[in-house]
Amino acid sequence: MREIPFSLEEHPCFSSPKVGLAVLGHPIAHSISPVLHKAALEVLSTKEPSFSHWTYERLDVHPKELRRALDQLSDAGFIGLNLTIPHKVEVLDFLEHLDDEASIMGAVNTLALHGNKWTGYNTDGYGLKMALEKELSCDLVDAKIFILGAGGAARAAATQTLLSGANLVHIHNRTAKNLNNLTTLLHQEFDSERIIGSTSQTLNDADFCGKDWIVINATSLGLKLGEPSPLSIPCKQFGKQSVFYDMIYNPPRTKFLCEAEASGFRNANGLSMLVYQAKRALEIWSNREISAETMFEAAKSHFGD
Ligand code: NDP
Repeated sequence: MREIPFSLEEHPCFSSPKVGLAVLGHPIAHSISPVLHKAALEVLSTKEPSFSHWTYERLDVHPKELRRALDQLSDAGFIGLNLTIPHKVEVLDFLEHLDDEASIMGAVNTLALHGNKWTGYNTDGYGLKMALEKELSCDLVDAKIFILGAGGAARAAATQTLLSGANLVHIHNRTAKNLNNLTTLLHQEFDSERIIGSTSQTLNDADFCGKDWIVINATSLGLKLGEPSPLSIPCKQFGKQSVFYDMIYNPPRTKFLCEAEASGFRNANGLSMLVYQAKRALEIWSNREISAETMFEAAKSHFGD
C-alpha cells in the first residue's frame, strides 16, 4: 500500500498561522486542548495584541508520519506542540534536547521550537502535582501514594510524586510485565525502598487498612461509561484523610470516584491535571503567566456545566 505523506496543506484543520501551536495525536478528535488554549490566548491577546496572531490547531498525525510532521510544522511557522497518544514516547527518537523532567519521565507531551530544533518537555507531572495540591489540598512531602496503572501516565505520576518528596509510592497494575518495566526504571532513579509494586496476586489489603493514602487512577479503566473501578480494595478500609484522584475526566464521575465519594473521601477527576499541564505548556511557549481559571471555565462550558 502506498504511504500517504503528511501534508499540512491537505490537512482539514490547517490554516496558515503567523505563530502556530497544535496538538498532535492519532486519533485526535476527542482532544479538548484547543478549547483550553484558545480561551487562554484570547485573554492574553486582550493584554498583548501580538498574541492575537497565535493559533492552536488539532492535527491527526499517524505515528509513521510524526518525524515528517515535526519538520513541516517548524517550517510552516509552528513554535509549540502538544503530543498525545500515541506520540509521547516515540517522539524521543527525534529529539536532541529534553528538559530534566521529560528525560526522567521518558515521555514528552510538549515541544517548543528553539532555533530550528524541537525541545521536549513533560508537563503532565506538573499538572498532576498542581491538581493534587490545589483541588485536594494534598501535601506530597512524606505522603503515601497508591497509583493504579503502569503506563505513561502512571510513570509521570510516580516520577513527579517521588521528585516532590513522597515517602512511598505503591504501583498496582493488571499486568506484571508492565509493572516490572516501570518499577525497574524507577529503581534506577530513586531509592528502591520508596517504591513498591503489586498485581492482584500480590496485593495485601492490610497495607492500606486505616492508613492515609493519595490514591490515583492512572489506568484507562473507567473511560467507557459503566466500567468497574480498578481499585479492588473497598474504599472504606482506607484512612479517613485519604484522597482519591482519577486522571480520567470524561466521563466526569467514574465508578472509582463514585465509590470514594460514597465513603466520604475527598476526590476529583482529571480535568484539573489536564488544565494545569496545558497552562504550563502555554507558559513555556509564551513566556507569560497563564490563568488556569480561564482554562477551567472554557472546559466547563465545553462540557456544558
Ligand atoms: P497507557 O495505555 O500507557 O496505560 C494504560 C494503563 O491502564 C495500563 O497500566 C493498563 O494496564 C491499564 N489498564 C487498561 N485497561 C485496564 C483494565 N481493563 N483493567 C485494569 N487496568 C487496565 O495509557 P496512559 O498511561 O497514557 O493513560 C492512562 C489514563 O490516564 C487514561 O485514562 C488517560 O486518559 C489518562 N490521562 C489523563 C491525563 C490528564 O491530563 N487528565 C493525562 C494523561 C493520561 P496493563 O499494563 O495491564 O495493560
